[in-house]
Amino acid sequence: MAREEWMESLMEKPLFGDLLATDSRNAIRYHLTSGTTERTPIRVLDSMKDWDWINEMWCYGIWGFGVRPEDIVYFAFGYGSFIGFWGAHYACEKLGALVIPGGAQTTEARIKQIIELGVTTVFSTPTYALHLWQKSREMGIDLARESKVNKVILSGEPAGSIPAVKHQLEEAWGARCGDTAGMTEIGTIMIFECSHQPGGTHIIEDHFIEEVLNPNSDEPVGYGELGERIVTSFGRGFIPLIRYRTKDMVMKVPASTCTCGRTWDIYSGGIRGRWDDMKLIRGTNVYPRAVEAIIREYPAIDEFQIYIWRKEELQDEITIKLEIKTGHEAEWPDLEHKLTKDLASAHEGLRFNIERMDYGVLPHFELKAKRLVDARPVANY
Ligand SMILES: [Zn+2]
Repeated sequence: MAREEWMESLMEKPLFGDLLATDSRNAIRYHLTSGTTERTPIRVLDSMKDWDWINEMWCYGIWGFGVRPEDIVYFAFGYGSFIGFWGAHYACEKLGALVIPGGAQTTEARIKQIIELGVTTVFSTPTYALHLWQKSREMGIDLARESKVNKVILSGEPAGSIPAVKHQLEEAWGARCGDTAGMTEIGTIMIFECSHQPGGTHIIEDHFIEEVLNPNSDEPVGYGELGERIVTSFGRGFIPLIRYRTKDMVMKVPASTCTCGRTWDIYSGGIRGRWDDMKLIRGTNVYPRAVEAIIREYPAIDEFQIYIWRKEELQDEITIKLEIKTGHEAEWPDLEHKLTKDLASAHEGLRFNIERMDYGVLPHFELKAKRLVDARPVANY
């Protein structure tokens, strides 16, 4: 099944389509996909038993990364209809950690709580973890020195496995950063990074069948080859998923790649992007995540946007709009030159335009970032 079929079913039979495996009266909770896309959200229901399972899957992940009963964990999370970190919250309670729900607060208030309460583990999106750090610097606080945080657990965006982003976050927080990934369609995480940090995420293979297929031929691909992630799971009783096409781009490598002893295979580099995110610019494939990985090699760059447009109705152009961090302005001429070169050499010589914006002009994201703007006429169908 693909997401399109799920959507069609939702349109035909609101609110939940044909997907519910049991009577909706058995449900105890309602959630939906996050509102970052223009698409109709996917709506889901879960039973008490489903929630037990959802939390258990998060337990696998957070225990694997080293969360223990003595930890004090902080959720920099909005606790809304988006399912997000709800399961992680319950999982931390289940394994006996002290949980601080940081919903409905300003970033400043969150930073103060993290310091005052001696928080050791923070749950956040990569973008917001970066934002917390930047805000703390403005407040004159050095999180790496002044907080007790030794683990930051990331989810919600693929950036948690981009080495440059991870490196920047680990430096900023003085903590290990671990990637996890889940989806609303499943209700929980299916992959997580263990404390040995093998450069990827273990697949929870006793609860998920994860196949990797060539998205064009639908043939399975082997270890070390990029393909589309297809997931099957019966863990969520309300909505079992059978061979669901995720469009996530992954590369499976054997469990032995990691030294932790788990026998579960690994997605090297986590979720590497989405097959439908691929942009074709003058014949060259451009993946926003790959572009972000290159941009994040430059710590002087603050916020950025990948802007795709059409010049004189003829030629596709790609422009990286970026803001330089305060205090790093002198690096700009050199940075512009090097970044142009790095981007081109990673994209078969494709020319990227680089445009420096005044600080604060680009949208700064606190939750899920949307840094790709495709302004070509055809992209707005
Ligand atoms: Zn491992």
